[in-house]
This record gives sequence, C-alpha cells and structure tokens, in this order.
Amino acid sequence: MKPMLDGKVIVVTGAARGIGRAAAYAMAQAGASLALADFDEDGANTTAAQVARLGARCVVVRADVSREEEVAGLVNAAVARFGRLDGAFNNAGIEQRNTPLHLLSEAQWNAVNDVNLKGVFFCLKHEIRAMLETGGGAIVNTSSALGRVAIPNAAEYCASKGGVLGLSKAAAVEYGSQGIRVNAILPGVIRTPMIDSLVSQPQFAGLLPALEARHPIGRLGEPDEIAQAAVWLLSDLASFVNGSEFSVDGGYLAV
Ligand code: NAP
Repeated sequence: MKPMLDGKVIVVTGAARGIGRAAAYAMAQAGASLALADFDEDGANTTAAQVARLGARCVVVRADVSREEEVAGLVNAAVARFGRLDGAFNNAGIEQRNTPLHLLSEAQWNAVNDVNLKGVFFCLKHEIRAMLETGGGAIVNTSSALGRVAIPNAAEYCASKGGVLGLSKAAAVEYGSQGIRVNAILPGVIRTPMIDSLVSQPQFAGLLPALEARHPIGRLGEPDEIAQAAVWLLSDLASFVNGSEFSVDGGYLAV
C-alpha cells in the first residue's frame, strides 16, 4: 500500500516547533514533499533536517503569515521547487495574553487576529490560486476547541479561532466543485511549547492538572495526535470530507 501522502507537495506553516513540527515529520513519513514556513527560520531548519533524515524532499521559507507578500512568496517557492501544490496545513498561530475583554487593547486584538485569522486568509488565497492551476488540492486550517467554546480572558483568541472556522467553510463551499477541499482541525489542549510557556507562569500554578481534568480522556493531547489527523484530512482517504469542524480534543467539546 502506498503511503497516504505519496507524491503530494504540501505547505506547513508554524513548522519550527509544536504541532507544525510534528505535522512535518508525520507528512514526511507519509510520503509528502514539504515547504516548511515559520518566522523562526532556525527552528524551521531544525525541523527540515529531521524531515530530510526521514527521506523527504523539503524547502524552508522564512515567512510571517500576517504579511501577504511573504505568504505569496512561500507558495511561489513551493511551486518553483516542486512544480505544483497539492496540500497545505495552515497552522501558524499565537496565543492570547490573558487580558479581560474590557481591558483588551486594539494592538493586542490585532496582534492575535493578524496572525491567527488574517494569516489563514492570506494562506488560503495564495494556496487556492496555485491549486486551481493544477486541478485541485486539500487544505487543513488549525482552529481550536476555543473556536467553538470560550474561556475567560481570551476574547481575541476565541474570536480568531471562530473566524478560522467560518473562513474554512467559506472556502470549502466556494471551491469544493473545483476540486479543493478545506477543513478545520479543532485541537483540545496539546503539549507544545505554547502550552508549556503558559502553565510555567507563576500565576497559572495548578492550571496543568485542571486542564488535564477538563478533557474526558484525562490528559492533554500530543502534537503527533493532531499531525496524524492532518495527514488523513490531506490524503485522498478523506476525499468526501469538506467544510468540516474536525475535533481532535479528547472529548473536550463533548462536555
Ligand atoms: P507553538 O508551539 O507556539 O508553535 C507555533 C509556531 O508558529 C511557532 O514556531 C511560531 O514561531 C510560529 N508562528 C507564530 N506566528 C507566526 C507568524 N506570524 N508567521 C509564521 N509563523 C508563526 O504553537 P502550537 O501549540 O504548536 O500551536 C499551533 C497551532 O495550533 C496554533 O494555531 C494554535 O493556536 C493552535 N492550537 C494549539 C493548541 C495547543 O494546546 N497547543 C490548542 C488549540 C489550537 P515563534 O516560536 O517564533 O513564535
């Protein structure tokens, strides 16, 4: 049996660490050629070295997803290197600063939404442009369980991730008939540097066990558990999955 992503060319954003790095490894093992993007170029190069050890072809592009010209450059670099674009995992994102909504500044709002929501818009726009040239593809956007339900002091993050759900569905209905599937993954809380930096802050002592207990499965998720779902959604095995909110959350949203 062929690997799930055999011969496919896939862009991964936020590939320097966390879920994006795990996705790069899983997609390399599944047979894809990869264009890895992050604004942490050193981290992306470290990911790329392991991807190469796994036998996959790979190009690294330093790109800030909140800047349209850099996203266009990323897609163009993938097409220039590999001749086409078949898939994308639009995963780069940043967390909230734990501010009550009535104290949230416009700058804080913009910082999160420029990356988490506008960045996904720029990625979709340029990836779809490239995919239309070669007859289609598949795209997975990283939303969050917090795109569906909320926690206090995270209004800008919840809004950004809810926006990703709307954007994903808009693209899914607009381009499904042209051979492009678009889905959103909703992770629960996943053990990545993003979460490690949050729970290590003194004001959040005790948060980790509370987060674990919040998931019916009794623990946090691992980056590879999100990566494997992204591999499947990008593969032809998911050929009838389009516009979905795909929860990978240990039951977080079932409570
Ligand atoms: P992470 O460990 O912080 O990794 C995110 C990566 O994205 C980092 O390498 C980061 O670079 C990069 N990045 C940030 N802003 C960027 C930009 N403007 N352009 C390009 N790259 C950028 O985060 P993660 O936990 O793996 O999260 C990945 C995605 O999953 C995010 O969209 C996040 O919101 C979502 N998510 C995570 C969880 C969770 O529990 N971890 C839960 C639900 C959803 P720097 O390190 O230089 O900032």
